[in-house]
Amino acid sequence: MSYDDKNIFAKILRGEIPCHRVYEDADTLAFMDVMPQSPGHLLVIPKTPSRNILDADPATLSKVIPIVQKLANAAKDAFDADGITVTQFNEPAAGQTVYHLHFHIIPRYEGAGLKP
Ligand code: 5GP
Repeated sequence: MSYDDKNIFAKILRGEIPCHRVYEDADTLAFMDVMPQSPGHLLVIPKTPSRNILDADPATLSKVIPIVQKLANAAKDAFDADGITVTQFNEPAAGQTVYHLHFHIIPRYEGAGLKP
């Protein structure tokens, strides 16, 4: 499958729809998920168009992964979380619903259970 620039995250990158930005650099944008699985659930996306990890350029991944790590640590501290889920889905069968590569960073708490 190819990249379609009508997806919602491409629109966010173009400034066509708003988001709650928490981090941005030349290559990467991070913003809060509109339907958080827990407080502090954020999404990290490369600015380079990739449908998902399956078609992503390794150079793109090498830029975004360190930011995912940095923001996972920041979210753990900011939301006083006991743990952090970092997750990422590829294609509909795997649960992907927005077709621009993204990483979920989800604060987790002891005893709170996990939503699917
Ligand atoms: P996935 O494709 O990994 O299954 O999930 C896409 C994620 O994007 C979901 O967690 C969903 O809540 C989030 N999402 C969908 N539309 C928007 C939007 O317009 N703004 C923001 N901030 N998040 C969105």
